[in-house]
Amino acid sequence: MQHPNIIIIGSGIAGISCALRIADKHPDWIIQIITKKTARTTNTRYAQGGIAAVMDTLNDTPEKHILDTIESGKGKCDEKVVRYVVENAASRIHELIQYGVPFDRNPSGELALGLEGGHSNPRILHVKDYTGLEIEKVLLAQARKRPNIKMLTYIQAIDLYVNEKKQCLGAYVLDTRKKEITFLHAEALVLATGGSGQVFDVTTNPTVATGDGVAMAHRAGAEIMYMQYFQFHPTALYKSKGRQKFLISEAVRGYGAHLVNSQGKRFVFEYDKRGELATRDIVSAAIFHELDISGMDCVYIDCRHLDYQDLSSKFPEIVSTCHRYGYDIKKDLIPVVPAAHYQCGGIAVDLNGQTCLQGLYAIGECTYTGLHGTNRLASNSLLEALVYSATAAEHILTHIPSFPHPSSVPHFSYSYIKPHSVVRYSRILRKWMMQSFRSLNNSAKTKEYIQRINELEIEVNAKYGNGLFPALTELRNMIVVARVILENAINQPEL
Ligand SMILES: Cc1cc2nc3c(=O)[nH]c(=O)nc-3n(C[C@H](O)[C@H](O)[C@H](O)COP(=O)(O)OP(=O)(O)OC[C@H]3O[C@@H](n4cnc5c(N)ncnc54)[C@H](O)[C@@H]3O)c2cc1C
Repeated sequence: MQHPNIIIIGSGIAGISCALRIADKHPDWIIQIITKKTARTTNTRYAQGGIAAVMDTLNDTPEKHILDTIESGKGKCDEKVVRYVVENAASRIHELIQYGVPFDRNPSGELALGLEGGHSNPRILHVKDYTGLEIEKVLLAQARKRPNIKMLTYIQAIDLYVNEKKQCLGAYVLDTRKKEITFLHAEALVLATGGSGQVFDVTTNPTVATGDGVAMAHRAGAEIMYMQYFQFHPTALYKSKGRQKFLISEAVRGYGAHLVNSQGKRFVFEYDKRGELATRDIVSAAIFHELDISGMDCVYIDCRHLDYQDLSSKFPEIVSTCHRYGYDIKKDLIPVVPAAHYQCGGIAVDLNGQTCLQGLYAIGECTYTGLHGTNRLASNSLLEALVYSATAAEHILTHIPSFPHPSSVPHFSYSYIKPHSVVRYSRILRKWMMQSFRSLNNSAKTKEYIQRINELEIEVNAKYGNGLFPALTELRNMIVVARVILENAINQPEL
């Protein structure tokens, strides 16, 4: 048999880990990773707090991690998936350590484990407050060492090609520098395209997080589930510039920071007995409520009572970024707001990372596996991406289908046109999503927003027809994702 074509879309923790596993087991196969900007432009590189795993087997147990995950997900997690992920965590972490990820250790050389909201034990492995950056760096370096992994940057996937037998045979992609659209044939195609925080006006996600994988899978007929469970992180720096708000990690609250309102009063205990260490949905809802009743724009993180030296050595990036924005964490209250952070739902996959379309896999944040229920437990997402990248890789290695290469390149009706600014449309969409998200349980209002989104789509299509350029492709995808979030809220209300 000819060597199969494996295409992985996305160069975050999910995509690269999957590629490494296939590459090592089959050095004769070529794996192409395509990514729409540089290889490092991912959500992964912004992960601060770390990755959850039971490594301290004296004080912690997988059972506790399983219970914490299910409690955070409001009892709506798929227990078999939770068990699978938690029980595979330690082996995947050992692989990361072998690849060279320098997780922090305490003076005796044991892994230093942090505590985050919703966890009943310290179990967060971290590298200071830039864990994701280190993981991304190490994984990319490993990928570069393997000649059978080809990293194709500035290639934006536009759409999947699925035949009448529901087999995914490849993807149409745009080379954004050459401005050329081509078709890439694949025997196995893996979506590892990350999240969609950019659909909202206030987000911690980088600009690449426009939900392209979800939108492509939706257009191709894959099942998309529970997108309405979008997690807002309680503490994004209020004043950070640009579309991506800087995150003040949960680990800072785990370390002892308080959340106070404009009167300097700690308020989260009024909403949950765990106070600042309640799960994210509870803390975010408490902040939104506090903002509603006070009419203020933000609440504050208070670190003034903490040991500044120790805090700076544990969270250097956070301390220095606050400083850059004019806040001295030693003396000042740090203004924060909740921001769209993590997509708990997504492309439905089974325990092998397979979608309902043959040959199409999905891993990482773009998926709905059943792990998170209605609210992800902190630091479980890097773990999920890692575990599912391995399981999908194993399945591809043993079940590679040999679909025939389509005899001719299937016709694609869109063509490249000179880019225009589409900011006006995306701004409107993002504002609507911030508004509609807070009233998702009101189906009449939600239907009204769906109607508005449909009209916006008609306007965009009337203006650009079959034209295509990178920002327009992202806008079209964000429109699809926004509508799916609202439609899922109406059609899949019960998880
Ligand atoms: C600020 C921040 C802090 C976080 N902290 C933590 C934490 O401490 N612990 C934790 O567990 N999780 C954390 N998360 C969440 C976690 O980082 C993500 O869930 C995880 O990194 C997702 O990995 P991924 O591989 O699925 O996607 P990503 O890392 O987002 O990678 C997606 C890739 O797909 C590419 N792509 C997207 N669309 C296309 C397209 N059309 N064509 C080609 N390429 C495309 C992107 O360019 C990118 O390379 C944090 C997230 C943020 C934003």
